[in-house]
Amino acid sequence: MNVLVTGGAGYIGSHAVQRLLRDGHQVVALDSLIRGHARTMELLRERPGGDRLTFVRADVGDRSLVESVLRAHKIDGVMHFAALAAVGESVDFPMLYYRNNVSAMIALLDACDAVGVERFVFSSSCATYGQPPDAMVPIPEHCPKSPMSPYGMTKLHGEHLLADLSESCARRKRPFGFAALRYFNVAGCDRTGLLGEDHDPETHIIPVVLQAALLRRESVAIFGTDYPTPDGTCVRDYVHVEDLVDAHVAVLGALTAGDRRAYNLGIGKGYSVREIIRAVREVTKVDFKVVEKERRAGDPPRLFADPSSIRRDLGWRASVTDLHDIIASAHRWFLEHPRGYRS
Ligand code: UDP
Repeated sequence: MNVLVTGGAGYIGSHAVQRLLRDGHQVVALDSLIRGHARTMELLRERPGGDRLTFVRADVGDRSLVESVLRAHKIDGVMHFAALAAVGESVDFPMLYYRNNVSAMIALLDACDAVGVERFVFSSSCATYGQPPDAMVPIPEHCPKSPMSPYGMTKLHGEHLLADLSESCARRKRPFGFAALRYFNVAGCDRTGLLGEDHDPETHIIPVVLQAALLRRESVAIFGTDYPTPDGTCVRDYVHVEDLVDAHVAVLGALTAGDRRAYNLGIGKGYSVREIIRAVREVTKVDFKVVEKERRAGDPPRLFADPSSIRRDLGWRASVTDLHDIIASAHRWFLEHPRGYRS
């Protein structure tokens, strides 16, 4: 298949590109490099299958350019990762999030529609659910959507754009199938050690705690210790990035015209912030300073997936379910790359 991967030089996107190349696909990675890393593209080009990778430096919101890329490379399917993805930042800069995640996606979908792209896999998020009532955790896909942050709202808008486009394609008898993959907390790094996670600034809990363990930051702040959870800190479902990518590949291959799928991608079990900190101490065998702080705006207390739909439909389930294994894969990359991709 000829696959366009938006955000292909980012954390999840680069892992997806690696997997698609390994599976023999032709891949066009499109990335503005505002948050992505050109180095990922160099590394992947040097690997077997790297000759099937084309890199285009562009903003996904550049409709005419994206349309010409789709045509030139006869793209069959799109994996749309390009987005901003920090909940706290989205609360501070909501318009930045709507511009990058919603306006740009409108342009991308417009281009896909003009060219007749038939398969679209969208990086959605469990942030679309907000905080469901206790009886709906683990969270099934039909759980009501009530985002608690602009980030979650942008992902829900993305799903609505796809639903409306799909409806219109059906009326025009144009084949189009899509899947919204609602990620829980993606973590870990490629276990061959090639690709990793490099955000600046880093806000996600596992890399932040690892930075403290590697003495690259002074301390870890726990945002909120008075949540209605067993130890008072937020509970999340951490899914390994390679498992997540595996689900994308399965979904892309399975999509047919008229599909409007939505799947939760998680392991089906939640870990608290304190459990993350304990596991990082155990994996790294390093102690570090932890400070308890106020809650961070936009954080639901307790989220973990009911991932049974994708298991039933496609046989996918997470293969890495032990928090220590997820952390160990990230630890390796962080150790070997003290300055991230600049190392
Ligand atoms: N968190 C924290 N300290 C940090 C970063 C995150 O206590 O330095 C908490 C955050 O409040 C949330 C959980 O860890 O409850 C996961 O946050 P992250 O940003 O990794 O992912 P999110 O769930 O927001 O997508």
